[in-house]
Amino acid sequence: MTYVYAFEEGNKDLKDLLGGKGANLAEMTNLGLPVPPGFTITTEACRAYLHDKRFPDGLADEIEARLIALEERIGRRLGDAADPLLVSVRSGAKFSMPGMMETVLNVGLNDESVEGLAAHGGARFAWDSYRRLIQMFGATVCEVPAGYFGDALDKAKHQKGTRNDLDLDADDLRALVGVYKKIFEEHTGRRFPQDPREQLNLAIRAVFDSWNADRAALYRRQERIPADLGTAVNVVAMVFGNLGPDSGTGVAFTRDPGTGAQGVYGDYLANAQGEDVVAGIRNTVPLQDLESIDKASYDQLLGIMATLEDHYRDLCDIEFTIERGKLWMLQTRVGKRTAAAAFTIAAQLVDEGVIDLDEAIRRVSGAQLGQLMFPRFDLSGTHRELTRAVGASPGAAVGTVVFDAARAIELAGQGESVILVRRETNPDDLGGMIAAQGILTSRGGKTSHAAVVARGMGKTCVCGADELEIERGAFTVRGTRVAEGDTISIDGTTGRVYLGEVPVEPSSVVRYFEGAPVSEDPLVRAVDRLMRHADSRRSLRVRSNADTGADAARARRFGAEGIGLCRTEHMFLGDRRELVEKLILAEGQPAREAALAALLPLQRADFVELFRAMDGLPVTVRLIDPPLHEFLPSLTDLAVRVAVAGERGEDVGREKELLTAVQRMHEQNPMLGLRGVRLGLVVPGLFAMQVRAIAEAAVEVARAGGSARPEIMVPLVGAVQELETVRAEAEKILTEVIGDSGVRVVIGTMIEVPRAALTAGQIAEAAEFFSFGTNDLTQMGWGFSRDDVEGAFFWRYLELGIFGISPFESLDRDGVGRLVRIASEEGRAARPGLKLGVCGEHGGDPDSVHFFHEVGLDYVSCSPFRVPIARLEAGRAAV
Ligand code: ADP
Ligand code: MG
Ligand code: MG
Repeated sequence: MTYVYAFEEGNKDLKDLLGGKGANLAEMTNLGLPVPPGFTITTEACRAYLHDKRFPDGLADEIEARLIALEERIGRRLGDAADPLLVSVRSGAKFSMPGMMETVLNVGLNDESVEGLAAHGGARFAWDSYRRLIQMFGATVCEVPAGYFGDALDKAKHQKGTRNDLDLDADDLRALVGVYKKIFEEHTGRRFPQDPREQLNLAIRAVFDSWNADRAALYRRQERIPADLGTAVNVVAMVFGNLGPDSGTGVAFTRDPGTGAQGVYGDYLANAQGEDVVAGIRNTVPLQDLESIDKASYDQLLGIMATLEDHYRDLCDIEFTIERGKLWMLQTRVGKRTAAAAFTIAAQLVDEGVIDLDEAIRRVSGAQLGQLMFPRFDLSGTHRELTRAVGASPGAAVGTVVFDAARAIELAGQGESVILVRRETNPDDLGGMIAAQGILTSRGGKTSHAAVVARGMGKTCVCGADELEIERGAFTVRGTRVAEGDTISIDGTTGRVYLGEVPVEPSSVVRYFEGAPVSEDPLVRAVDRLMRHADSRRSLRVRSNADTGADAARARRFGAEGIGLCRTEHMFLGDRRELVEKLILAEGQPAREAALAALLPLQRADFVELFRAMDGLPVTVRLIDPPLHEFLPSLTDLAVRVAVAGERGEDVGREKELLTAVQRMHEQNPMLGLRGVRLGLVVPGLFAMQVRAIAEAAVEVARAGGSARPEIMVPLVGAVQELETVRAEAEKILTEVIGDSGVRVVIGTMIEVPRAALTAGQIAEAAEFFSFGTNDLTQMGWGFSRDDVEGAFFWRYLELGIFGISPFESLDRDGVGRLVRIASEEGRAARPGLKLGVCGEHGGDPDSVHFFHEVGLDYVSCSPFRVPIARLEAGRAAV
């Protein structure tokens, strides 16, 4: 087995084996670009090492052989006292992963070779390089707290009366090396290793070990990166950007990763090494300035950037170093970018003939589109950033700061917009989280309680703002004190927190979906282009969940091709509650019929509105689903009211009656109780009234020249007999109402009870369509109540990796997905052409949409705002 590859032997497609960095260094080498020579130790070697806690047989010999070859090629030996070869040791997994050991530069320097290096590059340069080695080696290989080195450096600068590290001369740096060595000894109990090969060895092991560091493991769980990939290690001959003013180091992007605009983007820092550019030790200059500093290198760099874009056919980001006027490439990869840049660049590359439209829609995602649809802060004016943390749930929220849930509820009740600030949240904070406009915590990441619950509620949340010091009634951040009652603005997409009110601007992409003309804005043009293509490719249709004419009209503007779920219970709220109460309290047939008769015209009018908004498109109406007591006052409230009124000797006749009804209908597990089709079978006339209202509305719309296409959907069916009973009654009414009006009404069922999925073959006999209610199917499939578990223990399940994402957010393919698959196959086997859709929240979730495409459903249905996301993902699933 080969454990070590020279850069000449690899290529960009070997990321599994060589890691991202190694594979791309190999690719650049083979493109003929100036990459310092080096080699990559494979992820396989790492896996073997982690398994046996020692280098696998042969690895040490291979490393030695590669090192000798490198020495021969360069003509210097590692750590040679007279003229040393130095190397960097760099980690590089398949996916770039913060939390792993990063890089040790200048490996090979010791008390002797530093003099050899000085003889060639000058004493200042040599001692600067040595102190960097001790610092990086100490911090990353031996876990000496980095602060100690930083403090010593600051002290040296302070003594010299400067803030600029360049003012430290050779003697200062030599003295600093002495201090660093002491720090090293104090913390490790040993001297700084002087043997170059031992340095190399320890650094390689440290990279391997860092794969299992807590921070890396946590990051993998959050990002759903498999835990067993291992990391590669790159050993690269050093080139020096800290040799003087004609040297330097920089980063560059082939396009603006913020907007996608073309041009030269990057930063350069003269007389500097490695991390200095991003560490902010001195001010960098814009990359354009390199043109006047070193024109030859600048031109060469631009040429290389063009080559790389051409080769990778995408935005690349680059690290480079200039050593005395000679340019070296140290890293490239397909660059990360914002959502806006992703769309703009994909469309640009199509225009440039680099990629086709199929490829373009593969390169953007529904999640990115979703980000573009949130309102954003308009940062063009002055604003003051307080801190940056984890953007856990997107959106832009502005409000007064409050520190406890009760206060949040109180102020929100007075119409104020509040931001709930907590160290972390727990289930007791739920009420306050609901009341708040946004949530800010100082602890916890994307899977903390606050983050999970906020995403579930679609509420803006920033978490893990560890610079915040929260005391009673105020927090302090970087010296600024923010007290209860002060206003802040939080951005759940970028994780930034601002002092005061930052103006919010609506999204240009939403305006476009709302029907605004395609403007000159490159982003809107890109979105338009890619959406059209996605629509032309997808086989899944996209409908919307909507209960009112207004919602339906909006959904239609967003591209919905019908309604997949109209919840009729929403039509029983408000001032209609009283009618429902009458229905529930009705004793005997006449009273009940009177109540139903009063509800009929109201429902009919609702349906007319809906059918008009969706003229010509199918509208799935679900018959009433929740338990009836949801329409009655709460048991405790009512009991208290009756008791108080009774004491005062007031007339409590009606209230008492209500109380008895509520008590009678009280259920331990209402979600598993008298609801859905069960209600329809128990309360005479209820479903019949709804069916009649639907049919009459459809006829009314048809008579007026419109086209209504109602689909009646029966909820919570678990057995075909339930559906047959409802169907028989409904068909009688339909025949009677529809007559010769030409209206066609179909009857189908939800598949949301596991038993329904497992007996789908039988149920299909009585259903013209299935709609998967994946919320309930998840709830009943897992046996946990959605309303209770997300705040109670999901954070723990996510932490433990029991699932990587809440199964209510993204469909659990293995379990709930299997039920969907079985029901689809058996349903269609029994009734060829059976129409299949989904109407749970998952209909708008990107991953789930791909699954529904694979299973071969006809449509997904989701909330109006998610319709564009589902359209895009359905297109992506099809290419
Ligand atoms: P990261 O993944 O954190 O960027 P890198 O391995 O890329 O870590 O290295 C950190 C810094 O050191 C980068 O600026 C890189 O360009 C620089 N660097 C790495 N290897 C060398 C080398 N052989 N010569 C000069 N600079 C190097
Ligand atoms: Mg790098
Ligand atoms: Mg349901």
